[in-house]
Amino acid sequence: MQKVLNYFNPLIRLGIKEYSIKLPIAINFLATLGSEITALYILHNPLAVGSYIIFINVGLIIYFSFRDGIKGGFISTLFAVLYYLYIIETRAYRGTQLQIAVETTLILMLVYLALAFTIGWLKQRIDDLIIQETEARQSAEEGKVRMETILEQLPVGVLMINSKDKKIEKNRQIEKLFGNYVRSRLVEDEKYKSPYSFKDGKPLPAKDWPLARAFNNGEVISGEEIEYKREDQHLFLRINATPIRNKKQEIFAAVSTVDDITAEKELEQRKDDFISMASHELKTPITSMKIYIEVLLNLCKKHQDQKAEKTLLSIKNQTEKLQNLVSDLLDVTKIQTGKLSFNKEDFDLSELLSEIVEVMQGTTQQKIVFINHKKIKVYADKFRIYQVVTNLLTNAIKYSPQGKNIWVNLNEEKKRILVSVKDEGIGINKSQQKKIFERLYQVNESKEKTFPGLGMGLYISKEIVKRHRGNIWVEGEEGKGSTFYFSLPRT
Ligand code: ADP
Repeated sequence: MQKVLNYFNPLIRLGIKEYSIKLPIAINFLATLGSEITALYILHNPLAVGSYIIFINVGLIIYFSFRDGIKGGFISTLFAVLYYLYIIETRAYRGTQLQIAVETTLILMLVYLALAFTIGWLKQRIDDLIIQETEARQSAEEGKVRMETILEQLPVGVLMINSKDKKIEKNRQIEKLFGNYVRSRLVEDEKYKSPYSFKDGKPLPAKDWPLARAFNNGEVISGEEIEYKREDQHLFLRINATPIRNKKQEIFAAVSTVDDITAEKELEQRKDDFISMASHELKTPITSMKIYIEVLLNLCKKHQDQKAEKTLLSIKNQTEKLQNLVSDLLDVTKIQTGKLSFNKEDFDLSELLSEIVEVMQGTTQQKIVFINHKKIKVYADKFRIYQVVTNLLTNAIKYSPQGKNIWVNLNEEKKRILVSVKDEGIGINKSQQKKIFERLYQVNESKEKTFPGLGMGLYISKEIVKRHRGNIWVEGEEGKGSTFYFSLPRT
């Protein structure tokens, strides 16, 4: 029964583009037959008959154009007009009466057609809109389900926030990492510090959480490392976050990914421990080797064995290289563990630079030009500053095989003392200029691969300069040489 009612209910059929012809024909036929019977046997007043028939026809046109679109309305109009013509024919109108009847039929036909077309067209438009809307909603829902499935399957944790309700949504991976400890909303309190999240060893203020910074300040955060400590859990996390903007560039959401890098960190720690241990173990035998070489060299000199002396000198040279390498390795591990110590004193930097330039000049064909000879006093660790300058000069020589000159410059400025080492070598791509100061970083172009090295020198230099409250940086372009600068505060 409900099915039959639904079949006839035009409201339920909104959004269904099944426009029947059979039903309007059948119903209109029956209605016309009914009207004729009523006109012949029930109602006798012509005015009442006329009003009755018009009422029925208008009703049918509205109903069918609303149920079956323009087609339904036109079929009903056709039946009405044919019936009116039938009446004119069978009731034998004459003269003006006939004329009025025909004219009325024509006018009614036009009105009916307009009615059928307007309602039918509206019904068809509504159907189209409803179908489009349903399809859009369906595809949005499908998209959401697809997105949710992808998020659940991702091996990284994902956090999301939107500006509508400011609720934080999370995937399963986040729950695995933090249990129920993820807030359902961002903390609004400016002063709040998380008891579990730490950055550089300090509790992390809620306003500095990557998701909060992306959402509130529009920051794009990439690869930020945060520690998470709660009860017996100690995690290292690498976090990215980005704001999502609408067409007007307003932030309406933000998303953050959280990668658990604890295992990676542990491995790195073990590697660092190994390097530290190995370099410590190597230090003593190398020192003994150097002493033995000196003893042997003295013996050779005594016996005037020049051939053996030459060989020993080259062994000494290689041993010194090995010693420098081990000493760099030790420095790197000291930096890692915060154990790099300094013995500061007052000394003349210009004098130190002159000495280094002189020694380095003996190792290369390239001309090293030192510009400043004015006394400039600094309060610093002489050996460590020597290490920085030597490293910069060694690199300048190493990475400018075709270069002619190297310039060392020393300048006293208002607040700082500036040293620069300029070469005419292979230069460094702008995108790499910051990275070369990272630990074990080497530019990985085929050109650079031909130069020996481990990528420790600049990392150590940076730490030394930083610990003297100075700065180190590089300028220049790939293929056009580099200028390395470092500054020290004035005493
Ligand atoms: P290493 O020279 O042992 O590889 P460094 O830490 O001293 O390590 O340098 C890091 C990287 O920076 C080098 O591998 C090289 O690619 C680049 N670099 C350093 N100095 C220069 C320079 N003067 N010219 C061009 N590239 C340089």
